[in-house]
Formats: sequence, structure tokens, C-alpha cells
Amino acid sequence: MKDKNDEKNRIFEILNNEIFTTEFISGIAGDRVLDKTQKSLYEKLLRESGGDLYVNLLFYITHQVFENDKAKTLWEEILVHKKHLSRVLKRNVEISVATLDYLTNIKDEMRNPKLIGEAFIGKIAEMASIDGLTKLYNRQYLHVKIDEELRRHDRYGVTFSLLMIDIDDFKKANDTRGHQYGDGVLTRLSGLLDGALRDLDVCSRYGGEEFVIILPHTDGAEAEEIAERIRAAVEEQFKNDMQITVSVGLSNCPNSATTMKGMIKKADDALYESKRRGKNRVTLK
Ligand code: GH3
Ligand code: MG
Ligand code: MG
Repeated sequence: MKDKNDEKNRIFEILNNEIFTTEFISGIAGDRVLDKTQKSLYEKLLRESGGDLYVNLLFYITHQVFENDKAKTLWEEILVHKKHLSRVLKRNVEISVATLDYLTNIKDEMRNPKLIGEAFIGKIAEMASIDGLTKLYNRQYLHVKIDEELRRHDRYGVTFSLLMIDIDDFKKANDTRGHQYGDGVLTRLSGLLDGALRDLDVCSRYGGEEFVIILPHTDGAEAEEIAERIRAAVEEQFKNDMQITVSVGLSNCPNSATTMKGMIKKADDALYESKRRGKNRVTLK
């Protein structure tokens, strides 16, 4: 089980590491000439990540996890093999081809090599970042996406808002109707949230009965409208059924904060304010 998770984390890491693109890897392997910045980036990476870099490189190409020492040796052998193949074939043999040829035909390290495109590896990583019960994104993935929005703001000055949602008196619902009923509420609510949002919005399960939504290109006033619509839809959906309601806290970048910590703290403060003022309401901080 641990191995599976390690592997999942690795996929996640690699996908979210902007350095690991096909272009960069083929540059390292000599398919193209690296410019000065890329060269120093590569050297820096090498110093910092030690043996792990080779594990990542090979994983990116083969989707197989090798031990640190083995990965380094294999990588060096593959580069030699690549040179050899290129010489014999009188053309540049790309690193992915050389790797698969070396590992399947020469080293017998891979049984059924499958070339998986970047789109598919993205899909796998997405699966590793999804919450099992609600099928929404998990907290780890949310942080990655908030980071992206913050960078977009730094670069282009684009606004975005964060919505933090917490179910009101959920402990009572669990206590009176049971945990399974509670899980059902979480699933239904997730479906409702997902359905109420635009394609670009990112909806995540932040914790037990807490959800965080990123609304890109959305200012505070627009976010308040969306939040109010969600709040009302939840009230309506559950009006004959335990009367489940939600409280919402909102923050906006740059009006509330311009850092991850700040944005989350402001949304959390706003949520607390909604609770304090009697729950089933929306507050913008
Ligand atoms: P408040 O209105 O202040 O938010 O009150 P609350 O009862 O919702 O808040 P509290 O944080 O005290 O309790 C949250 C409850 O959510 C506790 C736990 O029983 C329930 N919960 C958290 N995660 C899950 C889950 O995955 N499934 C179920 N069924 N219940 C969960
Ligand atoms: Mg809570
Ligand atoms: Mg709650």
C-alpha cells in the first residue's frame, strides 16, 4: 500500500514540477542543444536532487519506479546506447526511444513497455489528486491550483476569489441519522457544488465537511453572488431532509490578500464570521 502511495506522490510531484517536460528531458539527453539558462538549471537540479533526478527522469519516460542508484547507472547506460543507436542509424534517436529499446531489448528490465502520452500522465496525476468519497479535488491539488492563480495575479494582475464552505451543525446530522447518512450528504452536496460551477472553477474537499472553491477571474462582488446562489441551492435541496445548510466565507485576491496563507486565512475568518452571525450565510472579508 505504501509503495502505491509513494508512486502516486511521485506522479503528482512530476506532473506539478514544471521542469519535467518532454522538451527539457530530451534537452538533457542531448536531443537538442540546451541554452545557458537551461544548462545551469539542469546543473542546479542535479546538485539538489542527487540520485532522485534520475528516478524522476526514468519515471517520466517509462512510468516505472527504479531505485536511486540503479536509475543513475541506467540513465548513463541509456545515454551511451542512444549515442550508439544514433550512430548506427545515422540519425538522432530520441531519448524515449533509446530508453525503451535499452530497457526492453538489452536489459530486459521492462516487460510490456507502454508509451503513455503527456495527456494521459496528466489524467493519472489527476486521479491521484481526487478525494475518494466526493470525487472532488483534494487539498494537495487545491494548493497547487491556488499557487497557479497567485502567479497569474503576480504576472498579469488578474483577480480571483476563494470560497470556503462548511456544513452547519453537521455533527448533529451525523449523530441523529448516522455516519452513512452523513457521507450521503457529503456526496450529494459535492454533486450540487460541481454542477453549480463553471468549467474553470476548482472545487475541492478541504477537510471532513469543508469545501474550498477557486473562482478564477472573479472579483469579490461576483464571488458573493455565486456563493449566495450556492447557499440558497443547498438550503432548497435539503429543505425536506434534515434541513442541511452551509456557511460560506470569501476572500478575494488582491483585495483580501495576495498570498496563499493570507487568502485561506481571510476566507476562514469570513467563514467563522458567518457561523458567528447565525450560520446559513455568506461573508466576504
Ligand atoms: P458548525 O455549524 O459549527 O460547523 O458545527 P459542526 O457540527 O458542523 O462542526 P464540527 O466541526 O463540530 O463537526 C464536524 C462534523 O463533521 C464532525 C464529524 O462527525 C463530521 N464529519 C467530518 N467528516 C466526515 C465524513 O467524512 N463523513 C461523515 N459522515 N461525517 C463527517
Ligand atoms: Mg468544520
Ligand atoms: Mg460544520
